[in-house]
Amino acid sequence: MIFGGLEKTTLIDYPGKIASMVYTIGCNFRCPFCHNPELVDETVETRIPEEDVLAFLKGRKGMVDALVITGGEPTIHGEDLLSFMKKAKGIGLLVKLDSNGTNPDILEKAIKRKVVDYIAMDIKAPFRNYSKTVAMPVDTEAIKKSISLLMSSGVPYEFRTTLVKTLTPPEDILEIGKQIKGAEAYYLQKFVSTKILNPQFRRKTTYTDEELDDLQAKMSKYVKFCGIR
Ligand code: SF4
Repeated sequence: MIFGGLEKTTLIDYPGKIASMVYTIGCNFRCPFCHNPELVDETVETRIPEEDVLAFLKGRKGMVDALVITGGEPTIHGEDLLSFMKKAKGIGLLVKLDSNGTNPDILEKAIKRKVVDYIAMDIKAPFRNYSKTVAMPVDTEAIKKSISLLMSSGVPYEFRTTLVKTLTPPEDILEIGKQIKGAEAYYLQKFVSTKILNPQFRRKTTYTDEELDDLQAKMSKYVKFCGIR
């Protein structure tokens, strides 16, 4: 694989762990609020071969606990991704995968092959509104399959939604709650309007802290833990 970025150390992207993070190139969604546009449209200038990433990770042994694989959408790389994850596990790292949930087969293979230790899946919108929200046609059956897979897999996971106030109104957030009822963890993520895919979204805002507290209380009726970040 070729990666579009490498962060040497992150303390916030793998719960409770010190991690390095790599960015995969390409995505099958076009979320207007996406803050990695150069990875999505594949114009990113940084190009790091897999061998270099693995050599770097071997050199970090003992300094980091984990590797976070984010994007773009990592699962569009299929078997190449799974093979890279296996190599990262071989170095002795915990592996976290960020995904938009469009490829349940790859998630399932990663779980079955024991090459993933934590999965974070975006829930972009209620199912009825998915395509509009991500600006691409979406097979929502695949999204549903990924949700049930994570909830039954035994692998630690979280769901999360990036919140642009006008795009995801409170009633939609509660509908998401019903769709992931019983989930272990769900995060309400504040939208940050710097460097985003759709320039028209630069003026959009997220919820206030008070509104988020209220949404957190309401979502806690559906999920075991609801956080704000
Ligand atoms: S937010 Fe994630 S799923 Fe959406 S376009 Fe960006 S990388 Fe793809």
